[in-house]
Amino acid sequence: MGKMGKVWLVGAGPGDPGLFTQRGKEILSRADVILYDRLVNPGILMWARGGAKFVDAGKTPGGKKMEQGEIHRLLVKHARFGEKVVRLKGGDPFVFGRGGEEAEILAKAKIPFEVVPGVTAGIAGPGYAGIPVTQRGMSTEADFRIGSRAESSVSGKTLVGYMSVDRLEDFLSKAMDQGFNRKTPAALIASGTCCNQRVLVGTVGTLARAAKKARMRAPAIVVVGAVVSLRKKLAWSESRPLAGKRIILTASESLRKGWREEIESLGAEVWEIPMTRTIALPPQKSWKEKIKNADWLVFTSAAGVRAFPGVVWDWRKISHCQIAAVGKSTAEVLRSIGLQPDWIGGGPGSRELVKGWPRWAKGKILHLTGDAGSGEMVELFRKKGFSAERLVIYRNSGTGPIPQPVRIALSKSGADWVVFASGTAAERFRKAVPNWLREPKVVVIGPATARAARQAGWRVRAIAHEPSAARILDAILHRS
Ligand code: SAH
Repeated sequence: MGKMGKVWLVGAGPGDPGLFTQRGKEILSRADVILYDRLVNPGILMWARGGAKFVDAGKTPGGKKMEQGEIHRLLVKHARFGEKVVRLKGGDPFVFGRGGEEAEILAKAKIPFEVVPGVTAGIAGPGYAGIPVTQRGMSTEADFRIGSRAESSVSGKTLVGYMSVDRLEDFLSKAMDQGFNRKTPAALIASGTCCNQRVLVGTVGTLARAAKKARMRAPAIVVVGAVVSLRKKLAWSESRPLAGKRIILTASESLRKGWREEIESLGAEVWEIPMTRTIALPPQKSWKEKIKNADWLVFTSAAGVRAFPGVVWDWRKISHCQIAAVGKSTAEVLRSIGLQPDWIGGGPGSRELVKGWPRWAKGKILHLTGDAGSGEMVELFRKKGFSAERLVIYRNSGTGPIPQPVRIALSKSGADWVVFASGTAAERFRKAVPNWLREPKVVVIGPATARAARQAGWRVRAIAHEPSAARILDAILHRS
C-alpha cells in the first residue's frame, strides 16, 4: 500500500471570504481533493490549486444530495489513496457541522486528521449585525442551539465557560444546577491552540481540584458535557511530532517561502522574524552582454532565482544558456519559475558545486547571486581553469528592529528552535537579542552557515543538508 493521506476538517467561516482562516487557506491550496458543503462561499474554492478535485457534498435541506455515509466513505477512500483531503464546511466544523462524526470515522479508520476551526455563524452573524453575543452588565451567557427537528429530541448539551479558571469550583457547582451531575465529563483547556496548550480532563466533581493540583492557569476554557468524552478518540493536536514547540524563522521572505506552512503541519508554532530582506536590483545595460556571453547560468540560492525574472527581459535571450542549481531545493525554485536546470549539484555550498562540476559542462560560467555572497565560487572556478564571472542581481538589506511586544513575549516565554539560513541572519539575530532571549536551539541550513553562526556566538545543534523546510524538519526531529 502507498503512503497514507490525511484529512483536514476545515471551517470555511460564515460566508465572507475574508473570514476564512489563514491556515485554512494554506491547507486548501495544497489539497488534492476538496469535499465542500452548500454553505461554503464558492469564492473560497478559488484558493484551491489547479487540478484539485472538487466534490459537492452539499445537502439541501430535506433534499438528498449526498448521504452522510457516502461522505464518510469518500473521506476514507481518498485518504487511503494517499491524497490530501480537505473537508470544507461552513462556519466551524465542530459546531452543528457533523465534523465530529466525520472525525470519529477517521479515528476509527486510523486515518490521520486535523481540525482547522472556523469562525462560527452564531458569533460572526450577530457580530456583523452589530450585536455582541455577550455584553458586560447585560448578558453573561450565550446559548448555541439547534432549531431543526432532527436533533431537537436529543437532550444532551454542552456548556462552555470563559474566564473561569480562578472560580472553577463555583462554575462547576452552578453547572450542576443546570442539569449536569458530578459524573458529567468536564475539561479545562489552557492556552488552547497555542504551543503551550494544556488540556485537563475530569468530571464536574473532580476537575476543580485537579486543576489546582496541575496549576492550570488562565487563559482557559472549561467545557462540560458528554462531548468531552470524545477527546479520548479525537485528540489530535498534541500527538503531532513538533506539538508544543516554538520555532523562529529568520530568513528573508524569498528564501523561507512555504517553510512556515510545512513546519506548522508538524504541529510547531512558527514565528517569522526575518533578519534579512532581499531586494532585486534594477537591471543594468551591461547585464545583457554578460548573459549573452554566458554558456552557463549558475544559481546558488532561492533568492537569486526569485530575482532573476526581473533580469531577463525576454526568455528567448537565455535560450543558448544551460542552467545549473547548487542543490535540489534551488532546482525546485527554478522549476517554479519555469526553468528546468540542466545540472543539479549535490549541495550544500559553492565548494561542493565546483568540486562536482561535470566534465561535460564546458564554456563560460555566470554566477547569479546577491551582494552578500563572497565571490568564492568564481575564484574556485577560475582556479580550475574556467572562465567565470559573478553577477550581483539582488542585494541583502537589514530589517527594522523586532517590534516591542514581540520582544517582550519572546523574552518571557522563549523559543525552542531558531533557524538560520545565512551567516548574516545569525549575526543580526545575535545583535537583535543580545541577552534577553533564553538560548534557543539553533539549526542552520549548511556547514558554511554553521561556521558563521558559531562565529556569531551561537551553539549550533543541528545542520540541515539543504535549505528546505523538509530538511530543516529532519534535522530538528533528529535532535528533539
Ligand atoms: N458549522 C456552521 C453551522 C452549520 S449549521 C457554523 O459553525 O456556523 C447551518 C446553519 O448555520 C444554517 O442553517 C444557519 O442557521 C447558520 N448559518 C450558517 N451560515 C450562516 C450565515 N452566513 N448567516 C446566517 N446564518 C448562517
